[in-house]
Amino acid sequence: MTQFRKSAALSRIQPAATIAITQKARDLRSQGHDIISLSIGEPDFDTPDHVKTAAAEAVARGATKYPPIPGIPELRQAIADKFARENGLEYAPSQTIVCTGGKQVIANALLATLDEGDEVIIPAPYWVSYTQMVAMTGAAPVVVQTTPEDGFLLTPAALEAAITPKTRWLILNSPSNPTGAVYSTDTLRALADVLERHPHVWVLSDDMYEHLIYGATPFATMAAAAPNLKDRTLTMNGVSKAYAMTGWRIGYAAGPQPLIDAMVLAQGQLTSGAAQPSQWAALAALTGPQDALEVQRKAFQQRRDLVVARLNAIPGMDCPTPPGAFYVFPSCAAFLGRHTPAGKRIETDEDFCIALMEEGGVATVHGAAFGQSPFFRLSYAASEAQLTEAMNRITTFCATLE
Ligand code: PLP
Repeated sequence: MTQFRKSAALSRIQPAATIAITQKARDLRSQGHDIISLSIGEPDFDTPDHVKTAAAEAVARGATKYPPIPGIPELRQAIADKFARENGLEYAPSQTIVCTGGKQVIANALLATLDEGDEVIIPAPYWVSYTQMVAMTGAAPVVVQTTPEDGFLLTPAALEAAITPKTRWLILNSPSNPTGAVYSTDTLRALADVLERHPHVWVLSDDMYEHLIYGATPFATMAAAAPNLKDRTLTMNGVSKAYAMTGWRIGYAAGPQPLIDAMVLAQGQLTSGAAQPSQWAALAALTGPQDALEVQRKAFQQRRDLVVARLNAIPGMDCPTPPGAFYVFPSCAAFLGRHTPAGKRIETDEDFCIALMEEGGVATVHGAAFGQSPFFRLSYAASEAQLTEAMNRITTFCATLE
């Protein structure tokens, strides 16, 4: 029998823990366990009706063929308009690209620029795919820890210390998955001051959670906060989180023309243009009524407040109030060394999350999956009823730990 041999590229990576845990929750549920899943980063709202209608109309009029590789011109224009209107960033439509989800934006950018031996600075805790995508290219992720005391924000000193002649990118994600941290214009400028001394370092600004901000700090993005870095910054965004369109698979970006051209080259040989009906749907999302954004933002804020208050009422639990996104990232340090009712000893945040799922009936993701322990991430993109029941369960579970 011919033996299967995995490529070196794939041998360097692992499936996302977030997806593995969501699958484990599904498996437990199919065995009859009652599990509330707060492990996935997906809004529980439905895609707006006018967006669905735009896609149905596109299909009915035959917009079902191969689209241009970088995206349909109407959507690229809408993306350029969005960046100008909402972020004060001027880009020609040719400097934009439409991809199959925000994920493919990042994958294209890294594939288009990285070689073996290159380095990419990734502040931790980070979104799970950054390190894996970088590793797939043969480059090295350089993980820089942040602290709850610094609001989980990268400091200029830590950035300076991480830069080497091999650094190609700094990946910034604000509001952050998993901590909900938000970079202000000032904090971005302080990082930009460092980057100005290192012109070989580019910035990938992942703005997927732009519209989910609850605190006093307004949204800011590097190319606007530090215009002198615009010609080495890729600003990415998408419709997945903002418009409850995770399944439509549309992400987009704008940046310097040579980078966009290289990303289009990569995309052309990998997937071609993103699904055409989804592009028409995304066009409707970006150009249509925006009132749903505020309704959802308020709903998320209410849920965040509920979850933070309930978690902090648990003796030992320490949950900072995140200013953005739809996740909380509490510390579970106080529970390490304790035993569950089934007699398991909790040594790590992963043990805590597995026991919470198996014995407490709530699925969350351990901090180690995001590069920082001992924490866990809980997504509050769920109904208030579900969240209340989940908080009851977590409270009971923690009280039973000895
Ligand atoms: N960036 C961040 C920070 C995310 O959390 C996600 C999705 O979870 C993505 C990018 C990818 O977005 P998409 O689902 O559009 O591929």
